[in-house]
Amino acid sequence: MPRTTNSQISVEEAFRSLIREEVESQLRPLQEAVDQLRSVSALLQQLSPLASLVGQIAGPAVTVTAVKRGPGRPRGSTRAATARVLPSGRGGRGSNARDCAIIDCKRPARTKGYCAAHYQKLRMLAKSNRLPPTWVDFAPPHSVPDLKLPRGRAASKALREAAGK
Ligand SMILES: [Zn+2]
Repeated sequence: MPRTTNSQISVEEAFRSLIREEVESQLRPLQEAVDQLRSVSALLQQLSPLASLVGQIAGPAVTVTAVKRGPGRPRGSTRAATARVLPSGRGGRGSNARDCAIIDCKRPARTKGYCAAHYQKLRMLAKSNRLPPTWVDFAPPHSVPDLKLPRGRAASKALREAAGK
């Protein structure tokens, strides 16, 4: 009995000293890094009057470049943006100026006669077996009554019933 406890203790101690050595060896570079950082910050503090001087010199130059670039870039980018948006937007609406097939929907039709939102709804209804017969592809504008979807428990009930069909 005593032998085993002794050996256990010695193993434990050996293990502990191993860990201690390991940790210390790993912490040594960290310690050195911290020391280096301290010396660097001390150096920076010594240089701080100089740094503010450099800032004063560099300050105006930096603001000048900022002002030069400021008005130039946004103008160019907005011009490019409007140039890109206008032809496609007007052309798109002009060539197929058509409203969404859903009654009371003021958005333009985008896919199969439906606006983006209602086409999404159509696809969802079709996927869940609940597409009303009125929701046909390429229905005339404002000809299809909107469908109010049930919410909460009623919604899951409707989905279950539709799935059972
Ligand atoms: Zn719509």
